[in-house]
Amino acid sequence: MNGKIENPDLDFDRQHIWHPYSTMLSPPPVYPVTAASGSRLTLADGRELVDGMSSWWSVIHGYNHPRLNRAAHEQIGAFAHVMFGGLTHNPAIELAKRLIAITPEPLDKVFLCDSGSVAVEIAIKMAIQYWHARRRPGKHKLLTIRGGYHGDTFAAMSVCDPVTGMHEIFTEVLPRQYFAPRPECRFGEPWDETDIQGLAGLLAENHGSIAALILEPVVQGAGGMWFYSPEYLKEARRLCDAHEVLLIADEIATGFGRTGRLFACEHAGITPDILCLGKAMTGGYLSLAATLTSSLIAETISAGGAGCFMHGPTFMGNPLACRIACESIDLLLESPWRERVATIENRLRTALAPCREFAAVKEVRVLGAIGVVELHEAPDLRALQQKLVDKLVWVRPFGRLVYIMPAYNINEDDLAFLIGKMVEAVGEL
Ligand SMILES: *Cc1c(COP(=O)(O)O)cnc(C)c1O
Repeated sequence: MNGKIENPDLDFDRQHIWHPYSTMLSPPPVYPVTAASGSRLTLADGRELVDGMSSWWSVIHGYNHPRLNRAAHEQIGAFAHVMFGGLTHNPAIELAKRLIAITPEPLDKVFLCDSGSVAVEIAIKMAIQYWHARRRPGKHKLLTIRGGYHGDTFAAMSVCDPVTGMHEIFTEVLPRQYFAPRPECRFGEPWDETDIQGLAGLLAENHGSIAALILEPVVQGAGGMWFYSPEYLKEARRLCDAHEVLLIADEIATGFGRTGRLFACEHAGITPDILCLGKAMTGGYLSLAATLTSSLIAETISAGGAGCFMHGPTFMGNPLACRIACESIDLLLESPWRERVATIENRLRTALAPCREFAAVKEVRVLGAIGVVELHEAPDLRALQQKLVDKLVWVRPFGRLVYIMPAYNINEDDLAFLIGKMVEAVGEL
C-alpha cells in the first residue's frame, strides 16, 4: 500500500470487514472515499458528494482542516502517545483546562477516555462509586427516559431506548433500569407540567435504589432525533436534587455548539453532576471523549472504600487526540459559530418546509444545525441511500428518519444544494 489508493478492494471489504450495524450476508454497498475536504467527500469513481452528516456529528469544522492538520503534525513530531498512568503532558492539561473553562460550574474534574460509550460507562461507574462511598450501596440502578441513545457497550446499552435502542437481543443480559416516558413537550412549545409526572413518579417511588438519572439534554439523537422542552430538564434537575439522585447529562452528540448553545444544558440553565462529551471534541479527527464531574463527587469517590476511581484505559489521555481537541475547541471559540449555526438553522427551517407537503412525511423538525424529516414509514433504506448518492449528497437515513447535521462552516451553495437534494429525494419516495 503506497500513498494514494485509487481502487479500494471492495470485494475484500464485503467479505471481511464489519461496518456499523451491518450484516455479513449480502451487505449493502459501501462507497469508497479517496479524499475529503471541507464539506466534500470524493469517491473513488471521482464523484464529489456534499456532506450532510459531519461523520455522525463530529466533523464540525469540515474535513482536512489546515489548523487541525498542523496541530496533528506538530504533536506527531513531538510524541503521538505515552501511557497516562504515572505520566502526564501538556495536551491533556491544556484540554482539561479548556473543558473546565467552557462547561458549567462546578464541573472541574476531568476523566479523558477513548469513545462516547466508554465516557458513559465511566459516568455510570462514577455514580455507583459515589453512592457506595456514601455508604448507600443500594443506590446502583439508573433511571433514564425513553427514546434515548447512550452507546453500544453493556451499561450504555442498558439505558438506550428498549425499542429503538437496537439492543433487544441483549435484554436478558442487560441490567434492568428504570424508564420514564419520552418527554412529549416540544422544544419551543409552552410547558405542560404533566409531562414530568412519569419521571417524578418513578423517582418518588424508587429513589432509594437509583444512583443517577441519565439523559441527553434537549436533543435525543440516535434514539429518534427528538427535541424536547428545556423546562423538562429544569424539572428533572429539581427532582434529582429533591430525591438525592445524581444527574448525568450525555452531551456526546449535542456538545460543542450543535444545538445553538455551546452545551445543550445551557438551554435550561442547569448543571449536571456528571457530563459526558465526545463526538465533536477533536473536530472528528480522532476518537476521544471525556467525563466531567464536580470536586465534591470526585472527592467523595476518592475517599470511599476503593480509595480510587476504578477505571483506566490503555489510551487514556492520548496526546495526539488531546492536542487536536485543543485546536478544535480554539478554532470553534474563535469562529462566529453562533451565527453560523443560526444561519444553518434558518436555512433548514425554510428549505425543509416543503417536505411537509409530501404524503410520506410525518413531520419536519429543526433545532440548531440539525434538520430532521420523519417519515410515516421506514423507506427502503438501500434504495434511498443509493438515490441520495446519485444526487451527489452524503445523507445517511436510519429507520423513519432522514436527517442532516452539516459542518458549521459549510458554504451557502453547498448547504442549499444539500438541503435541496434531500428534499428532492424525500419527495420522490
Ligand atoms: C454517539 C453517542 C454515544 C456513543 O459514542 P461512541 O463514540 O459511538 O461510543 C453516546 N451517547 C450519545 C448521545 C451519542 O450520540
